[in-house]
Amino acid sequence: MPLRCWAEIDLAALERNLRSIQAALPERIKYIAVVKADAYGHGMEQTVTRLMQAGVDMFAVANVLEAVSIREIGTGWPIIVLGATLEDEESYLFEYDLIPTISTVEEAVRLEAKASERGQPLKAHLKIDTGMGRLGIWHEYADELFDVLKHSKFLKLEGIYTHFASANHDPDFTRHQRKLFMETIERVDWLETDSLMIHADNSAGITTFAPESVYNAVRIGLLQFGITPYPKSIFGHVEATPIFQFKSRVGVVKKLPAGASISYARTRVLDRDSKVAIVCAGYGDGVPLPLSNRGCVLINGKRCPILGSITMDQTIVDVTDIGENICSGDPVTLIGPQDGGEIRLEEFSDWARTIPWEVLCSVTKRVPRIYRTAIKTG
Ligand SMILES: *Cc1c(COP(=O)(O)O)cnc(C)c1O
Repeated sequence: MPLRCWAEIDLAALERNLRSIQAALPERIKYIAVVKADAYGHGMEQTVTRLMQAGVDMFAVANVLEAVSIREIGTGWPIIVLGATLEDEESYLFEYDLIPTISTVEEAVRLEAKASERGQPLKAHLKIDTGMGRLGIWHEYADELFDVLKHSKFLKLEGIYTHFASANHDPDFTRHQRKLFMETIERVDWLETDSLMIHADNSAGITTFAPESVYNAVRIGLLQFGITPYPKSIFGHVEATPIFQFKSRVGVVKKLPAGASISYARTRVLDRDSKVAIVCAGYGDGVPLPLSNRGCVLINGKRCPILGSITMDQTIVDVTDIGENICSGDPVTLIGPQDGGEIRLEEFSDWARTIPWEVLCSVTKRVPRIYRTAIKTG
């Protein structure tokens, strides 16, 4: 079937990004690949397959359903569920050998009871809240939870972690969180930290990572997908390149006179005789509505401004200035390079007044994901 709006994902670039991050970290550090939300919109199956081939140590997802989909791709990798596990989801932890995150005494008691009822041990990671205010037990209250885990027969404490709230723009607060996390762990005298996974760093976190520290794992999402919205310097020698391109094609090209109105609610009135191209992509594909009268697309490598409101299936762009020879079927790039031009995800998300990873999560089901440089197996 010919394509009219699609995402192109470069799996070799994903692998290069992974290698680059791994090379920047001491060898003993385990790599937990975070692939929640359909691998940040890149597609769970293909990206996870490649990450398995490339040699990550573990996967992290948001919930048991996502974890089960990884189990169906390949066996042997530990999978941690970063979100809360609801009571009616618990049985999946056992059936699929998943690692839950524990944030409360209530959860620990509930899971211990379930494990005991099944006669099946369950590995778990305990999460400490050091300033995110989301999951995890508040660091000052953690002793009680450690105590419950110490006395659990079936629940096996395998890891401890925390999550940074401002690793990308507030290194001081991140250091403060690290300190609280360490103090909390050090208070627990019976812990054998050598045999535990201890992790805190997400993509931005690794910039304040201290190699000699007690951490022995990192949890990386954005950076492996080449998303670096922070100042370039923050990632030091990690070279990560974008792996995602968003593309479409020209439906029709036509002339309109000065004074003609464009799109719903006459969101634009032309101030000159114009040539416009109608692009086969709209908010039904994940082109954000705030790009109306704001963003650009690339045709022939040149920037063509978006005119009027984005509509569900189509976007109107101004091609008056870019020459005569544009016609139906021509390629359009919404995100990515084209013929010497480039629209970066970060710029696109600024136009949309949002963050890059929300853009990726918003590319809809209608948009086929086309994978480049997949390794053929079987
Ligand atoms: C999403 C997430 C990560 C990964 O963060 P990135 O900034 O994408 O690297 C790590 N840990 C937790 C708990 C998360 O929810």
